[in-house]
Order: sequence, then structure tokens, then C-alpha cells
Amino acid sequence: MYSVVRWGLVAPLVAAIAFSQGQWVEFKSLPEGLLQERLRLAHPKTQERFQRLGALFEQTGCPDLREQKVSGSREPNLICIVAGNTPNTTRIVVGAHYDSAGGDGVIDNWTGAILLPSLAEFMRAKPRRHSFHFVGFAAEERGLWGSKEYLSSMKKAERTSIAAVITMDSLGLSATKCWPNSSSKQLMKMGAHVALAMRLGFAGVNVDAVGNTDSTVFHRAGIPVLSLHSLTQDTWQIINSRRDVWDSLSWKDYYDTHRFVSALLVYLDEQLP
Ligand SMILES: [Zn+2]
Repeated sequence: MYSVVRWGLVAPLVAAIAFSQGQWVEFKSLPEGLLQERLRLAHPKTQERFQRLGALFEQTGCPDLREQKVSGSREPNLICIVAGNTPNTTRIVVGAHYDSAGGDGVIDNWTGAILLPSLAEFMRAKPRRHSFHFVGFAAEERGLWGSKEYLSSMKKAERTSIAAVITMDSLGLSATKCWPNSSSKQLMKMGAHVALAMRLGFAGVNVDAVGNTDSTVFHRAGIPVLSLHSLTQDTWQIINSRRDVWDSLSWKDYYDTHRFVSALLVYLDEQLP
């Protein structure tokens, strides 16, 4: 028996409050038709998903795309690196697993994975203070293998240079949610701040009893992380089931999350040390 524990009151933060005076966050989003096209590339087979995600990174012009072998997995992690504009830049990691376990794996987690190439494209359009790693994690469904590999491959100095990790898993079932028990307070606050300014919902829903996701690997290692999802009491049963198909998606919510994450990355780049 599984349950989703709600974090406090699920109070949608939809007030019309702008950022403090003079503060602007300029961000981009994909035209809806293009994002839908990419979402329709969801395929039940992991090998095919890997190929398609790699092709999307290439098509969007990722200048530095690397494969990181993941022990036990046939497919590697896919890492698109966007360099910062100063030599000693700290890193922001944006991660989403691309493997799946049920249905066409549209929600879990093609919704997260296909945002990576466009976010990488948007972030390199201007000089940034941080370097960015956009990581398609392999073998999440096998036990978070890809994110564990990514973390363990780093030396201590590299780990401490990570300013934030944003993970996206199973988006578009409802307005953007975060997993408080697997996120750091500061990043949740910053997420809420951006959502508020955009008049979008942003609530904490704990999913400890539903399953696991890549954010826990970083959270346990003491690295600041924000774990984004869209599961609620009414929708968590869709993932890892035959219902994980296009028809289960709430397009408006998904598109809002796409815009939210896009703005959030710019905001974090400007605000985080
Ligand atoms: Zn997932």
C-alpha cells in the first residue's frame, strides 16, 4: 500500500507578486508545437530513448556532449556541458533520467529528459556565471545507477564546487511540485519565489512512499538539490504502469513547468554564489 504524504498545506502560490524592484529574469521557452513534437518521441525501449535523447542534444547544437559509462548499464549517462564565463565557475547540474519502466514512459521520464537539450540551448545563449551540466541519467529505474555513477566519478573538490542540482522526474501530471524530504530548503524557497513571480503553482509533495529518484543521491551527499516532479495523491499510480502514456499528460501543466524551469535556471545562475 503506497501513499503520498503532503507537505503541510498544499497552498498554491499563485499571487501576483513580481521580483523585487529592478530585478528581471529573462528566460526562453520552446513553442508548444516543438515541445509536443519532442515529447512524442517517447519510446518504450531504453536503447531507443538513449539514441533519441542524444540526437536531440546534437540537433540543438550542444558543443560538448559526453557519454559517461555506467557500470551494469548498457547505456551511458549523457552529459551536455555548457561552460561558464569565468575560469573558477561553480557548477549547476540539471538532471533527468531517460530510462523508463511502464507504458511508453512518457511521463516517467521523457517529460524531464527532453527538457535538457532545450534548457542547455537557452543557457548557452548568453554568458553565465556558473558552468552547467545537463545530464540524462541512465538506469534510474534499476536503482539510481546513473546518478550514483555521476557523483562517485567526482573528486571531493569537484563535489564542493556544485552550487545546485535540479532533478526533474515525472512532470506534467499536475502543476510543478517539489519533494521536500529530498530537497534543500534554500532551493525550495528560490523555486517558490520564481513560481510566485510567474503566478504558477509550486507545492511540496513528499513521495518517499512512492519510489525514489536521482535527487536522493545528491541530497544524501549533502549537495544542495531541488527535486522536481508533478505527482499527487491522485496521479502517482500512473507512473511505472501501462497508463504512462501521452493521454495521461496535462499539457498545460507540463508547458508551465517547462517555462518555470527555464526561468529558474536563469534565476539560480544570477543568485547563487
Ligand atoms: Zn522516474
